[in-house]
Amino acid sequence: MAAPPWSNWAQTVQWTGAVQKPTTLEELERCVKGASRVFVVGSGHSFHFPAAPPTEGLTSGTILLDLTHGFNKVLSVQPSTEGDRSGTCVVEAGCSLGQLATTLQKQNLALESMPSLMSITIAGAVLTGTHGSGASISVMATLVNEMDVMTASGEVVTIRDPRFFLHVGLLGIVIRLTLRCVPSYSLHQRVYEHIQLQKFLPMAREVVEHVESSSFWIDLGRAEVMAWLRFRIEDMTPTEELDVGGMLRAIPVRVSETNDPVQTQMTGPWLDVLPFFGIGQSLPNRETVQAEFFIPLSEVQQAIEALQAIPDAARHLPHIEVRVVKGDHLALSPCNFRFLTDEKDLFACLHFGFPKNMQTVAMTVNAIERALKPWGSRPHWGKLFTVSGCTLERFCGPAAHRDCAAFWALVLHHDPRGKFRNALIDQVARKVVAVQEFKQLHGALPGRWPFHCRSIDSTALATGTLVLASMAAMVLVFRRKMLASR
Ligand SMILES: Cc1cc2nc3c(=O)[nH]c(=O)nc-3n(C[C@H](O)[C@H](O)[C@H](O)COP(=O)(O)OP(=O)(O)OC[C@H]3O[C@@H](n4cnc5c(N)ncnc54)[C@H](O)[C@@H]3O)c2cc1C
Repeated sequence: MAAPPWSNWAQTVQWTGAVQKPTTLEELERCVKGASRVFVVGSGHSFHFPAAPPTEGLTSGTILLDLTHGFNKVLSVQPSTEGDRSGTCVVEAGCSLGQLATTLQKQNLALESMPSLMSITIAGAVLTGTHGSGASISVMATLVNEMDVMTASGEVVTIRDPRFFLHVGLLGIVIRLTLRCVPSYSLHQRVYEHIQLQKFLPMAREVVEHVESSSFWIDLGRAEVMAWLRFRIEDMTPTEELDVGGMLRAIPVRVSETNDPVQTQMTGPWLDVLPFFGIGQSLPNRETVQAEFFIPLSEVQQAIEALQAIPDAARHLPHIEVRVVKGDHLALSPCNFRFLTDEKDLFACLHFGFPKNMQTVAMTVNAIERALKPWGSRPHWGKLFTVSGCTLERFCGPAAHRDCAAFWALVLHHDPRGKFRNALIDQVARKVVAVQEFKQLHGALPGRWPFHCRSIDSTALATGTLVLASMAAMVLVFRRKMLASR
């Protein structure tokens, strides 16, 4: 069978429709104006494309736009004039993180954070809330100063409001971005194995605050943790290197002797140490897919216990990685400060990898979502999740927060006919109209928004009430007739 014209990296999304690879702004504008439905992709490393059109029953007006061929350059790197060795860069949407990182390093600049892989595009990373790990870093969308997008009408506009940089493509096609850069830095990575899970979890906050970046791999079967800790070279003394300032001394720690290339002790510049899969390094096999959920770090111990309670948890959840990030103010971010009761808390990013059997994966992801529900967990936009439009609406719909209301109003302004949306997103977006009408009538939003999507369908509820009321009325009429006839 012929390969589809496009599929994502994991080969879980197969696109059989038209694929366009514009290389100029004029070509891009022509593509957008001529299409009724547009699906934009970066390097396709997402496992889930929340705003994508359904891949079956495609109409001829629906196109996939791949910007990695024409819009893939670092346009400029500008050192700061403040004398603090920082800077900014202007980069096209389809440029890979690897290319950007190499260019910045040559100018003694760096990105404050990096995810585990370099092959993704900068737009893909920003738009889905892609992140690295560290107590002082947030998702990569917080590195953006401004972003040029092409709206559904083909007009190019600049977004400068920092609340809206994470938009999963809903505000238009990202063309180029301006990012903040920090002075280049070097790190040393140490790997610690066989840490007891129960002793480690209460100390997690202290450990992450002590290092620049960290990843904790949890083995539920053995109830053990493997910790990858990365120290800034200038922060590290030889003693701290081994026992993290004494914090890990209380628990059995053995420095890893593994030969696995992604788990080695290493020292080097940020772009070599932070990603697990560096430039030119091959990725893990495509037989694994990922899901990820965010909860407050202060709740991580109870959340892990809830995961342990999933039947046969050790077999179903073979790869759990915990990272941390700081909160942010992005309207659509799963790590927005509004999800923390204490703003000083951090977010735990609970990452899961599964063998690619999509049927069992869906069930396992759903079991994780149910287990993490008490902590109001929210999914990574680029990874697998099964939550409904109602749940998404509660997390980031127009009534969730005034920044979300402003975001969805802008979505409708940039894309009134839904060129960049699908049915799932429309479920969230169409409530904007109701909110706007409500505000026009009453001047402000109520403290509790009365039109939330509920698990019981409101139409069914109304019909049920009507049926019960009519039955009661019929009984009354019947009773009255009986009494009259006596
Ligand atoms: C092996 C592996 C490791 C990973 N590690 C991490 C990690 O460490 N941290 C983390 O947070 N995530 C991680 N991810 C997830 C990954 O970072 C995200 O899915 C990211 O979005 C992929 O970027 P991409 O360039 O492939 O974008 P795509 O997957 O192609 O697209 C991402 C989204 O952005 C939209 N989009 C892309 N470009 C544009 C544009 N120009 N204009 C408008 N919309 C656009 C797409 O429609 C889609 O919704 C990993 C994924 C894999 C496969």
